Amino acid sequence: MNNDKILVTGKSGTVGSNFDFGEGFRSFHYDLTNYNAVYRLMSDYLPTSIVHCAARVGGLGVHMKYKKELFYDNMLMNMNVLEVARQRDVKRVLSFLSTCIYSDRAQQPYTEKNIHDFEPFPEHYPYGFAKRMLEIQSRIYYEQYGLKYNCVIPTNVYGPHDDFNTETGHVIGVLIHKCLKAKNENKNFEVWGDGKQEREFIYAKDVANLTYWALYNYLDKEPLIFSNNQTISIKEIAEIIADTLELQTKIVFDTSKPTGQVKRTVSGNKLKSIYPEFVFTPIEAGIRATVDWFVSNYETARK
Ligand code: NDP
Repeated sequence: MNNDKILVTGKSGTVGSNFDFGEGFRSFHYDLTNYNAVYRLMSDYLPTSIVHCAARVGGLGVHMKYKKELFYDNMLMNMNVLEVARQRDVKRVLSFLSTCIYSDRAQQPYTEKNIHDFEPFPEHYPYGFAKRMLEIQSRIYYEQYGLKYNCVIPTNVYGPHDDFNTETGHVIGVLIHKCLKAKNENKNFEVWGDGKQEREFIYAKDVANLTYWALYNYLDKEPLIFSNNQTISIKEIAEIIADTLELQTKIVFDTSKPTGQVKRTVSGNKLKSIYPEFVFTPIEAGIRATVDWFVSNYETARK
């Protein structure tokens, strides 16, 4: 597919910024919640493939406060992107789901088979349901039109270009920012919760490489999870960050703050079985590179 013209939605975000392929655009030029803008976008770019990454996302605070936007904007964006792509005969659309689509009642580790089991997490259900519908819409177009529209599910992404804002960002970016602030102000590094929760993370550059591979090599109807099957506790993450920044003060855990699920794991077994040679970036190396990136790009980083 050498003449393939890839359009990436969401190329300015945490995930898309790390892609070294595809053309991007900004939402103020083409607002994907607007059908006419999406039609104009596809007429201007004439893509032959689309990686659909754009979404309204955010940390827990955003999910609690902006339920309507997380549902309505994501539903509109997904509906418009896939439908206009179909109308314009784009044969390939690879879309991004998230582990927020799962339910706390579904069996762990989560797999490609139990996406729709039970309701999504109460704190994420507007976003979770909108994303689940993206999987449904992709599947419908695959079945009815024979289009290769399918989805991938990366576990929690971190890396350069992340959102390091302590109100809106994700856990690793937030902890890096908090730790740097603590270091600069010579204060203790405060971490929400007891640090025992375990999560899986994937380095944004690994997501970029896997996405490019999946665009051409993973054409099944069922979604594919991007995970390396390794969990790490929030405490261990905080320690790696503190170590990288050579923090001289203490790490303190604020157990009065919400912690989220104790453990959330997804299975990377399917990916491993079809792409066994892929080598994931070890979390220590990825966190160190992200800390270095944040320190070097402090002025312009999203914070
Ligand atoms: P970001 O919040 O960093 O970026 C969001 C992107 O979506 C931006 O490029 C933004 O463009 C674009 N966007 C938002 N609204 C619109 C709109 N109305 N019209 C056009 N573009 C819009 O998100 P991430 O990079 O973190 O996430 C990308 C995808 O990956 C999402 O689908 C998310 O669900 C998924 N994902 C992310 C994970 C993570 O940990 N980060 C984990 C699992 C999945 P602009 O800046 O121009 O507004």
